[in-house]
Amino acid sequence: MKQEYRNLSLVPRMVFGRGCFNQLGDILAPRRESGRMLFLVDDVLEHTGFADRLPMEKGDLLIWVNVDDEPSTKLIDSLKSRATEQLGENPSAVIGIGGGSVMDTAKAVSVMLANPGSSAGYQGWDLVKNRAIYHVGIPTISGTGAEVSRTAVLTGPIRKLGINSDYSVFDQIVLDPDLLHGVPSDQRFYTGMDCYIHCVESLRGGFINAFSRAYAEKAMDICREIFLEDWKRESEEKLMMASLFGGLSITYSQVGVCHALSYGLAYVLKVHHGIGNSLVFDYLEDFYPDEVVEFRRMCKWQDIQIPRGVTKGIPEADLTRMIDIALTLDPLWENALGPDWKEIMTRDRLKGLYEMM
Ligand code: NAD
Ligand code: ZN
Repeated sequence: MKQEYRNLSLVPRMVFGRGCFNQLGDILAPRRESGRMLFLVDDVLEHTGFADRLPMEKGDLLIWVNVDDEPSTKLIDSLKSRATEQLGENPSAVIGIGGGSVMDTAKAVSVMLANPGSSAGYQGWDLVKNRAIYHVGIPTISGTGAEVSRTAVLTGPIRKLGINSDYSVFDQIVLDPDLLHGVPSDQRFYTGMDCYIHCVESLRGGFINAFSRAYAEKAMDICREIFLEDWKRESEEKLMMASLFGGLSITYSQVGVCHALSYGLAYVLKVHHGIGNSLVFDYLEDFYPDEVVEFRRMCKWQDIQIPRGVTKGIPEADLTRMIDIALTLDPLWENALGPDWKEIMTRDRLKGLYEMM
């Protein structure tokens, strides 16, 4: 049988370095002729004076995005309507500034402005027909790899699943470590552990290859460097690179057991991605023994108390829903446990794992 390798779509342009955010106006300048711009910014930055740093011009639209809940298809559809109404036409660029939540929001909005219907109709793999509006991603917290991935993860009416498409990929990313100032240390850790877990699941999975290995090994080394030591200024730029590399690794391999379980948890209990992954990972010694021990060392060093008892007393129906959601993620299980994964990860075993959390 002919082997099919994925023809990967990567972010074509990147600027990296302290203060490089100040170049955003120049980067956007060539797009100015073709229309006004849409800025989507995490509302945590609303009262910090950050708006004054945005290279906005007359007619541009700024929307502060709240991420108390992770992005949903409903949010994307309403942002699309609001942008169309207020701008009167499609913007020439969509700029997303924030963590994984806002970056995914910007990806999804830029896709949906160029495609009909609700974003829920595009949750899945390669369902997008039209090229997205030019979009720029600017992380203000690092770890998810959303800046470099081809997915915009959304909670939809049926499940949490990304718009996985070449058109989701950012046209430009701006990586300025100064923007990570002010992230609370526990949140920084959880999002950082998302990166660490991406690497573990990539390296320990059957889909691993030399490309994904090279990036994951380097990103893991960086995670060790920064989370098994006191946090320093230079840790910000290192984490930014680890996030990028971890993201690159999984774009050409896959995640595994932890992400599958964490998706179920997120959908039913609204547990955020980074914290959900940390919470789950602690119980996965059977699958990732050495790494779970190392993860605990990092928690200890960073003085992190992972929440416990989140599934205690939840209705049976919720538990069932979590299991159902986790089991829909075939590629993750296949990567982690091989083609016979259904025999290894039975509903009972999954239930036992969830009940421990
Ligand atoms: P996030 O974007 O949800 O933000 C977490 C918290 O940090 C929020 O309260 C936010 O307001 C705050 N924050 C962000 N920047 C800050 C700053 N500079 N100062 C102070 N506070 C700041 O967190 P995340 O972990 O980056 O992203 C999680 C989301 O990313 C989830 O929705 C998840 O599904 C998604 N995700 C996407 C991918 C992908 O490849 N697209 C990969 C992993 C996760
Ligand atoms: Zn993740």
